[in-house]
Amino acid sequence: MQTTGDQFLVKKINKSIVLEKIRTESPLSRAQVSELTGLNKGTVSALVGELIGDHLVYEIGLGQSSGGRKPVMLHFHKTAGYAVGIELGVTFILTVLTDLEGHIVAEQRLPLDVKQPDEVFERLVQQVRALLDRAPQSPYGIIGIGIGVPGIVDASGTILFAPNLQWESFPLKIKLEQEFGLPVTIDNEANVGALGEKQYGAGQTSDDLIYLSVSTGVGSGIILGGRLFRGASGFSGEIGHTSIEVNGRRCSCGNRGCLELYASEGALLEQAASMGIDSFDQLVERAEAGAPEALQLFRQTGEYLGIGIANIINSFNPGLILIGGQMVGAEAWLRNPVQRVVRQRSLPYHREGLEIRFASLKMHSAVLGAAYYAISAFLYKDRVTL
Ligand SMILES: [Zn+2]
Repeated sequence: MQTTGDQFLVKKINKSIVLEKIRTESPLSRAQVSELTGLNKGTVSALVGELIGDHLVYEIGLGQSSGGRKPVMLHFHKTAGYAVGIELGVTFILTVLTDLEGHIVAEQRLPLDVKQPDEVFERLVQQVRALLDRAPQSPYGIIGIGIGVPGIVDASGTILFAPNLQWESFPLKIKLEQEFGLPVTIDNEANVGALGEKQYGAGQTSDDLIYLSVSTGVGSGIILGGRLFRGASGFSGEIGHTSIEVNGRRCSCGNRGCLELYASEGALLEQAASMGIDSFDQLVERAEAGAPEALQLFRQTGEYLGIGIANIINSFNPGLILIGGQMVGAEAWLRNPVQRVVRQRSLPYHREGLEIRFASLKMHSAVLGAAYYAISAFLYKDRVTL
């Protein structure tokens, strides 16, 4: 019995490996898959046959050949199903429908002017329903829902604490699964943002990157050695609640002088209110027109952000820092103050070879990371971590 179990396991692992190669490097011939994976041709042929039967791989045309019979090329069937990616923000709900390669086929954005969990949940459900109605026909239909949330999530998918939404203990994953009858993956929005950039954006070639989500609050997703670093309880990355002013103001988390009180969109808008500005877009317009108060506000935000980033650099020695979230829209004014303060405050050895960039997926880092979460849970549900 033991032998049978092992063989079954090995087959599952090999099938995952073959699918992953075809997904990331297609078009490939069977012989190329065999070369790239080290699996023998017979095994590859059998597994490819199964994947074709599963509608996840298809054959097309004839590839290049160095002589002899031309090989049939294998492609990943990216429209075999669709995923829903959601970012639950503090002031908005962004939802996308993607194919299995993360291409957006439908998108909706809803401003959020309520915070009460049941009311927010109701709007979330309406958004997802509207999106599901727009899904094209496919063999698998909707394969799952991935969601990023502005708070701390436990292993059961309950939001334990979301200070900016003022939520505590809300079982979002279970509620969504009950509502839609689909598998739901859930994580902190900075973690899914980091995954989105790693999978589809500016982080594709970096294995040690930290994604900073700067929106109403500030969070971070930490990827080390190519994998998301979650910490012992899964709560890593709350950089926004590290103290940068010892006697600073009280924060909604209970601490004082937290980074996000100085270097977030929330902090920026609080100060902009005295200038008669009540939205981020308005502030950007003023800065574009060269208004000195607006430019000064962005400069100050960039400096505080630089302090937070210097602390991250000294702690983790990443190769790449990506700034994402709402604040990507202010790159033009933040870039210089951030770089200047990082030069002043981080250790020179840590800075060498370090890149600081803005998220290339812009507002879509988190939704695409959330969708990818759902996609990988679907494609590799039998995968065994080696
Ligand atoms: Zn705090």
